[in-house]
Amino acid sequence: MKVVASLAATACLAMGSVLAAQTTETERAAARDVVRQIEELQARLKPTQVAQRMASRRDADRDRIFQRVEELWVNSMRDLSDWIGRNPEVGFQEFKAVDTLTAVLRAHGFKVERGVAGLETAFVGTWDSPAGTDGPTLGVIVEYDALRSTTQPFHGCQHNAQSPVGFAAAFSIAEYMRDKNLKGRIKVFGTPAEEVGPPSKVTMWEAGVFRGTDILVRSHGSASTGRNKAGFGVCCLNINEVKYIFKGRSAHQRASWFGRNALTAAVMFYTAVDHLRPSFRPEASIQGVIPEGGIAPNVVPERAVVDYYIRYPDEVYLEHIDSMMANAARAAALATGTEVEIQNYGRYRDGITLGTLEELVFAYAQALNAPNINPEPERPAGYEETGFVTREIPGVGVSVFSSPAPGHSLERWYDSMKPVGHTGFLLDAKIMAAVLYHFLTDARFREMVKEEHRTMAGLFDQYLESLRKAYASEIGGGRVGR
Ligand SMILES: [Zn+2]
Repeated sequence: MKVVASLAATACLAMGSVLAAQTTETERAAARDVVRQIEELQARLKPTQVAQRMASRRDADRDRIFQRVEELWVNSMRDLSDWIGRNPEVGFQEFKAVDTLTAVLRAHGFKVERGVAGLETAFVGTWDSPAGTDGPTLGVIVEYDALRSTTQPFHGCQHNAQSPVGFAAAFSIAEYMRDKNLKGRIKVFGTPAEEVGPPSKVTMWEAGVFRGTDILVRSHGSASTGRNKAGFGVCCLNINEVKYIFKGRSAHQRASWFGRNALTAAVMFYTAVDHLRPSFRPEASIQGVIPEGGIAPNVVPERAVVDYYIRYPDEVYLEHIDSMMANAARAAALATGTEVEIQNYGRYRDGITLGTLEELVFAYAQALNAPNINPEPERPAGYEETGFVTREIPGVGVSVFSSPAPGHSLERWYDSMKPVGHTGFLLDAKIMAAVLYHFLTDARFREMVKEEHRTMAGLFDQYLESLRKAYASEIGGGRVGR
């Protein structure tokens, strides 16, 4: 019964956007000092120069890893990608994909835990180096869900390739570690349902699944090869996904005074939100549906559900809107003699983007002659769509051109199983392997990444604090309850 707008757009539409991360005047003012400090940090770390040197250096070990990635891709992972492409399964229903993917992980010496964080189609594959695990823990995030449609599911976001790409990188690095007797651990995180709420990565993050990982990499199909600017941001505004569940009492239509009409409460609330719109800053994007509102006209509805996506450019003002709407829901319940239960079932927030890792990805994209390179850095957006994981663990997304077709189109799905897709995915896998290789073997680079992440996380707190100050006069008096 759940009717919500597809989250598809949140994850995949903004690739290619070159807007600044801060979109409102208030945000820009609050971020001014922080942005200056990010620029100073980047000037000190010089991530572009460092990355260009690393990618252009002759390195026999790295080149052997590239060769191994290519063998793995051509001999098995490409077919695996096409197979998932031909067998699309929507979010939280990816059973065939997970059966196959976990079997492949086991065959490559990974221990597999399924159903992590209470999610049936989430998994973690762990490979411990025979040399010992007292070294870096390298993480790879993979997805495998297809898009929903009115006819049949399809891989219009090319998630079919993500696991095979991540596996080729992970397996090649595991073999390298074994051959060179290097300490450490590799973890592959199977994260389901990227296109459907609630966001599984937040559920897994809250359950501590990612804890102890030193770096995370992830790939995604794209219409161009690019990288993001260092900073804070998210692709499609900060989002709260909230359900307001009104509970009344059923009765016969002709004796309705015995009942308490939950639909009336829902409609009052829905209308109240529209009346509130002028009281919110204009950048707010609030859209809701009423997926449940009773069954029969001759029965007073005892249950009604209103489902909203509340979006705002920053999370501080977003919480203010959320709080005002919660009060409106309580008011509607009070006015109608019903009760309301408020479920915050999904959250997306600004993530942290690191210059050290983004520039390394980009330097390798250039060195490997990736197609359709966008020379301009895109806005910061974290490396996974929820933002939360990026705040705790340094990481990067790799997106090499894999189709000229629009996101979420049938053409993009078909391209994932054609040379244009295959070429991009192989490059994704090589670049991911290169990032993991350098992080594993180059202690100075590893420290640089960690230092950048630590500093950026501190600056992020400073940014939120300054936003809270900026909004104090507007939102201070508005917080009743909660
Ligand atoms: Zn996607």
